[in-house]
Amino acid sequence: MRKLLVATHNKGKVAEFAEMLADLELAWLSLDDVGVTLDVAETGQTFAENALLKARTYAAVTGLLTLADDSGLEVDALGGAPGVYTARYGGEELNHAQRYQLLLHNLGDVPWERRAARFRCVIALASPDGTVLGEAAGVCEGIIALAAAGDGGFGYDPVFFLPEWGKTMAQVGSTVKHQISHRGRALRLIEPRLRQVLALPLRNGNDGTD
Ligand code: IMP
Repeated sequence: MRKLLVATHNKGKVAEFAEMLADLELAWLSLDDVGVTLDVAETGQTFAENALLKARTYAAVTGLLTLADDSGLEVDALGGAPGVYTARYGGEELNHAQRYQLLLHNLGDVPWERRAARFRCVIALASPDGTVLGEAAGVCEGIIALAAAGDGGFGYDPVFFLPEWGKTMAQVGSTVKHQISHRGRALRLIEPRLRQVLALPLRNGNDGTD
């Protein structure tokens, strides 16, 4: 079976990718599965720069076909912050709940109509020699809730309200989340390129060249 490295230590993320592209017959591997301890500093100014940097570096280090993603949250009332700093918002030592509570605190009494936000994700695919083979971006629009609700998902999901569902991302369940999330969208966009590289048949006549 062909191997595909997902450049993360997070087994949950690898499982999510494998679940979303379940019909691809691949051995999905995390950095821990292949014994990589190197930590690539996310020094890019954009999600794309960081995704490309991670995909290229980890592919070259492991000699494996590699997918890397970078994602985060942009909040309009905070001038687009935390953006590429989303994972570190408030400092390295905070847990997810402390981070989203800090976000609610920093938004204070900003009214509902000015709480627009979006999750962004960029996924990059690199060949075993470190060459970038493809890149795709996904966006999921929402509103930062006034209080946390729900216990599904991870990260900022409990405070990310989806107006069309009337629920937070932590309340919609994983099937809906995969359909609408920034990561799900980016992954579906890179899928045709991945199939092409793996010489697997394309689905729905989509040849990935749109
Ligand atoms: P990274 O791309 O894994 O570095 O993630 C950046 C940060 O964005 C994570 O630590 C999460 O806090 C946040 N984030 C990314 N995707 C999601 C999501 O789907 N739900 C909630 N938070 C997310």
